Parts: sequence; C-alpha cells; structure tokens
Amino acid sequence: MNSNKYLLHELSWVDIKALDKQSTVFLLPVGSTEQHGPQNPLGTDFLIAQYVARIAAKNSEIVYCLPTLPIGVASHHRNFAGTLWLKPHTFETMVKEVIHSVHYHGFDKLIVVNGHGGNTASIMQAISEYNDVHDMLCVLFEWWSDEELIKSIFGVPGAVHADAVETSTVWAACPDLVIPERFEGLTSAEKWGREIGGLFLSSRTDQFTETGIAGSLDGISKDKGQQALDAAAKKLVYVAEELSRYKK
Ligand SMILES: [Zn+2]
Repeated sequence: MNSNKYLLHELSWVDIKALDKQSTVFLLPVGSTEQHGPQNPLGTDFLIAQYVARIAAKNSEIVYCLPTLPIGVASHHRNFAGTLWLKPHTFETMVKEVIHSVHYHGFDKLIVVNGHGGNTASIMQAISEYNDVHDMLCVLFEWWSDEELIKSIFGVPGAVHADAVETSTVWAACPDLVIPERFEGLTSAEKWGREIGGLFLSSRTDQFTETGIAGSLDGISKDKGQQALDAAAKKLVYVAEELSRYKK
C-alpha cells in the first residue's frame, strides 16, 4: 500500500489496522533542537533523522514513518540561544511510551532513527526494556555510525558537531536552511569536549567552543552531504527489510 503514503500521521486508523503485524516496520525519527554553529539551523539533528527516515519509508513497501520527536537530551548546549532540552529521564520516557503505543497496536518491529549523540544512552535504555521485557524487536539506527562510510565520503574518521560532515549533510537535507555566507572565518574546537589524562570530562559546549562547532570545517559540500544521506537511507531500508523478515 505504501507507494505514496508512508507517514503514519497522513494515514487513518483503518489503514494502520490493516497493516500486516509481522512484516511492518515503524521508524521513529528523534533528534534535538540545539545550537549547530552560526551557519546551521537549530533543528539540524531532527531534520537529518527525519529526512533519512522518510526517504527510507518512501523506498520500502513495509516501512512506515512515525512523527518525529524533535527535542532531546541537550542541556550541555544550553548557553547557546534557542537550544531546547529535556531531562534524560523525560526523553527516555517519551521514547518508551511511543514504542509502547506501537506495541499496543500489535506491532513488534521498530527502528529509532536518531540524529543526536546525546540521545543514544536514553534510547538504548528504552529499546532494551522493550526488547527484554515485552519481546519486541527494536533497533537503534544512527546515520553517522558507519565510520568507514563517513571516511570514504568526507575523508575524516567521523562526524563531530556542526563540522563539515554535519553541515554538509544538513545542507543537502534542507538546502534553504544552511547559510553558506557564514562559512567564512568560522572557528571550531579541534575535538568534542575536554579530557583529563585521556578520560572524557563531560562539559558544556560553551566551555570548549566559542561558535558551538567542534571538528574540522574543511571541505563542506552539499554533494558529499547528499551522498551521506543516500547511503544512510539505503542502509536503513536494508536493516528494516531484514528486520521485517526476522522471526522471533
Ligand atoms: Zn548535531
């Protein structure tokens, strides 16, 4: 059915009730509304996750996309204007209760498509509980997690924050929202956070970067961003279709 209707909020309850309970896979895009440097929109993380999830749902007959959760665990960015955040416990509860709703309707397969590293721990808590206690098959998908792929496209070992990798990717997803005139002269922290004796010291973003950016800004490219989006959507379709066939 889903050749042109793959967003849950555009369908009716009758359509959802008619879906096959075993093979249907739901995608839940989650992200954050937080500073991403002067050049990128505050919605960067959820906009990328939503883009990848919607393209994947469009390209697969058994995949449907839930509405996006656009606010996440981001209090470390709070000294940059416009950043919004939830407590980790609140975010985890929101993810769990969406999973619970899907489960209640008789479906067992769901992929959380995350766009923000700060959400990962809370999502894993939610997923583990539903897989262990309720026998669901929930999976976490993060577009930047394939380091080999990121390296092959951008020539760096991974995405950091509002760096060339992420700026390129959101630029391709939302061409009107990135401001290339602001690329010139941007400063950036070499890496994410502070360290003591090689150990990560969690810290507020404003304590190590003035612009909010961390990681290299060399080689920002909308084309490379599109390659990253296409590769992520393709991999997500693959994972969803494997999950669809998976027998518990
Ligand atoms: Zn981000």
